[in-house]
Amino acid sequence: MTEALHIVCPHCHTTNRVRVEQLGSAPTCGSCKKELFVAHSTALDEAGFDKHITRNHIPVLVDFWAPWCGPCRQMAPAYEQAAAQLEPNIRVAKVDTEAVPNLGARYNIRSIPTLALFKNGKEVARQAGAMGAADIVRWVQSNLR
Ligand code: ZN
Repeated sequence: MTEALHIVCPHCHTTNRVRVEQLGSAPTCGSCKKELFVAHSTALDEAGFDKHITRNHIPVLVDFWAPWCGPCRQMAPAYEQAAAQLEPNIRVAKVDTEAVPNLGARYNIRSIPTLALFKNGKEVARQAGAMGAADIVRWVQSNLR
């Protein structure tokens, strides 16, 4: 029996079924035909966020940030490096708390940047403050054991 994972497309937010062994072979979206993993973070609005958090079978890492936040902008390149290392086993996403204030309020984000890790729709870990790429990867992996 082959196990299939539900993977939400970062482009059109359609839920795809991907076999586990195909996860690393550049699977594409059945709807928009683009690659499901682009080794970069996915910017999410509120509707996209809910789809990715509740429908993905893989964990979702979210960076809550804002354009006016210096440490957030400093961390951005490290976050993209971490995304390249974590995908396709993790969906790496970011939420602009200025553009999408409802999500910051819903999750009671008090300082930015804040990283939050979601699994099956539930938040399993949270860390405030900027981190380097290696530390982000280590933090995610240590919280998924
Ligand atoms: Zn798509």
